[in-house]
Amino acid sequence: MLIIGSHVGFKKDTQLLGSLNEAMSYGANTFMFYTGAPQNTARYPIDNELTLKAIKLMEDSDIDYSKVIVHAPYIINLANDSDLDKYNFSIQFLQEEVKRCSLLGIKYMVLHPGSHVGVGIEKGISNIANGINAILNNTDVVILLETMAGKGTEIGSKLEEIKAIIDLVDNKEQIGVCLDTCHLSDAGYDINKFDEFLKMFDEIIGLDKIHCVHINDSKNDNGSHKDRHENFGFGKIGFDTLMNIVYNSKLVNVPKILETPYVEKTFPPYKYEIEMIKSKKFDNDLINKIKSGQ
Ligand code: FE
Ligand code: FE
Ligand code: ZN
Repeated sequence: MLIIGSHVGFKKDTQLLGSLNEAMSYGANTFMFYTGAPQNTARYPIDNELTLKAIKLMEDSDIDYSKVIVHAPYIINLANDSDLDKYNFSIQFLQEEVKRCSLLGIKYMVLHPGSHVGVGIEKGISNIANGINAILNNTDVVILLETMAGKGTEIGSKLEEIKAIIDLVDNKEQIGVCLDTCHLSDAGYDINKFDEFLKMFDEIIGLDKIHCVHINDSKNDNGSHKDRHENFGFGKIGFDTLMNIVYNSKLVNVPKILETPYVEKTFPPYKYEIEMIKSKKFDNDLINKIKSGQ
């Protein structure tokens, strides 16, 4: 069965139950959320009652909670240690974050490897791995390194870089990968031939490491290193290539998460995109339908 959802909000008053209700309103059977605002590190305590209600509702709704994903805030950068206070704060924040994941019963946390901002790729990679080893010290949570577009000094736009980080992580059971289709294309990988890509991924890292796929189209051409997401089927990757990834037989058990943009920054597209993906037919008029709420 297709496991598909989108990123959803996580609000102070409704928490996991609110995130779940939002996901269900889109017809999703999984979801991803930030435990607070993605652009900052302000966090409030987890309400266990709301968590339990959400877990009960998932059990009643056949949602496999073990595949629900938390995304670490994107301002966290483990790659650069030129400001040691900042580097240590990032580690400490992520230690708190995996505790919140545990309180919420979440197994997987997606993390952007980070940008080296001048210290160099090699030093960046060892900074990331050292940070991850500190974070994983006292938790069962599995960190998923996201493949990146290669904007600026981002690390992780090459599979070899992801592999180099994994090699330095002590507990291999607690480190995996999240593929992002927009990022892979922007990084220069040809995902039109996705089976060939997976074969290469398997040789370098191993397919068993993939536990999440971010399904985004891209506003930019292959190799652009820009990282600007587009609605499903409306960008430079296109419907057929994305569908081939969503329904790839080697990734059936891996949750697919839409991080496509709100239309006109106002209208969430996820219900419509999920319907279109399930119908397996491209709808040229989808954006209008999203706007008009049809
Ligand atoms: Fe991400
Ligand atoms: Fe992503
Ligand atoms: Zn992105």
